[in-house]
Amino acid sequence: MRLTRYFLPVLKETPSEAQIVSHRLMLRAGMIKQAAAGIYSWLPLGYKVLRNIERIVHEEQIRAGHIPMLMPTLQSAELWRESGRYDDYGEEMLRITDRHGRDMLYGPTNEELITDIFRSHVGSYRDLPLTLYQIQWKFRDEIRPRFGVMRGREFLMKDGYNFDLTKDDALHAYNRHMVSYLRTYERMGLRAIPMRADSGPIGGENTHEFLVLAETGESEVFYDAAILNLTLGERSVDYDSREECSEIVREWTSPYARTDETHDAALFERIPEARRRQSRAIEVGQIFYFGTKYSEPMGAVVQGPDGQQVPVHMGSHGIGVSRLLGAIIEASHDDNGIIWPEGVTPFHCGIINLRQGDAEADAACERIYAALVAAGLDPLYDDRDERAGGKFATMDLIGLPWRITVGPRGLKNGVVELTSRRSGESEELSPEEAVRRVV
Ligand code: ATP
Ligand code: MG
Ligand code: MG
Ligand code: MG
Repeated sequence: MRLTRYFLPVLKETPSEAQIVSHRLMLRAGMIKQAAAGIYSWLPLGYKVLRNIERIVHEEQIRAGHIPMLMPTLQSAELWRESGRYDDYGEEMLRITDRHGRDMLYGPTNEELITDIFRSHVGSYRDLPLTLYQIQWKFRDEIRPRFGVMRGREFLMKDGYNFDLTKDDALHAYNRHMVSYLRTYERMGLRAIPMRADSGPIGGENTHEFLVLAETGESEVFYDAAILNLTLGERSVDYDSREECSEIVREWTSPYARTDETHDAALFERIPEARRRQSRAIEVGQIFYFGTKYSEPMGAVVQGPDGQQVPVHMGSHGIGVSRLLGAIIEASHDDNGIIWPEGVTPFHCGIINLRQGDAEADAACERIYAALVAAGLDPLYDDRDERAGGKFATMDLIGLPWRITVGPRGLKNGVVELTSRRSGESEELSPEEAVRRVV
């Protein structure tokens, strides 16, 4: 992409309404624009990162054997009356009446809708196990929408639902989700710690939240620093293997890690003092096993191997896709702007032409641009007729991992400058070598 042909409305001023750094940077970098309280338009740069996050979520869900689908944002109140949640859910549910006077709602979550789909089409244990998921917009009429996309009213969530014959099978699904979530967050350059949590209005006993440590987080958490040493890395996982999944879950859930709702001071005290940590954190996902809480009242039953009709065991699993943009920026930025992890960056490499209009500099930039595109990368070429300082500031603000700076002086010596956004280190290299290093 050439910047002169792109739409990147960066702000010079720091927006006063934004209280936390990720919100400020997303506004300044022209990623989002507020449309109404807690409701945002996703401008091209923000949309690009959102799509990258979605892609990683899809890839890891599919790798774990889960099946993508899509349900509507608007739902009929009827199903929610059946489960008993229409009245229970309270003020966070946006209720709408259509022209015929029918009660509708903008889905805050989808257990009812998916259970209805399941009971209409599945009747035998032979069709299990089954995990369906979607990435779809949700609406919750949060009392205090704030921090930009971090606590929106309209927000994008991956929500998945497993259907299993037995509790054991459903717990395998729970473990599979935990492992696939760990991998998902790692690919985004994030450390998200699974912590024992409270199940809230979804119900059920088994639940973990995934939390990213950050001072601006809205959750209070307590954990054993030993958990910070764990990573999945390149470890390959057979998601069909119960032993393998439960072994990884055991590893990750052995060190103490809890949100304040489930915090147990006595247990916490048993950790050696040097490893005891208390911190603020951002909830970026949560998984639940809730058994037959929805299948029973809604009649989601299958015929078991013995011919008996039994309600299925279910769980649900959510990732805050749009919130993740804020969480990643909170975890990865400096005074000059965002520092995107490679996995989610909107463009792989920026090219800065220090002397737009200089025949040699222009030609060298074009060659570098073409070489990066040919290598399958998506570069952003700042081809504006602007002062170098302005170009550097924009590039730092939008946080691409690599920058190649091209100017007449360097070209006389056959070199361009390659700069890492994260380390800030620069090197003079031939244009070909600079491209090779980025690829
Ligand atoms: P919170 O405690 O922050 O209100 P929640 O526990 O109500 O979140 P869940 O029902 O667990 O949310 O939904 C799954 C994920 O969706 C959350 O882990 C979070 O990342 C994301 N999410 C929830 N509410 C919002 C929101 N208002 N704006 C953006 N993302 C959200
Ligand atoms: Mg909530
Ligand atoms: Mg929560
Ligand atoms: Mg939650």
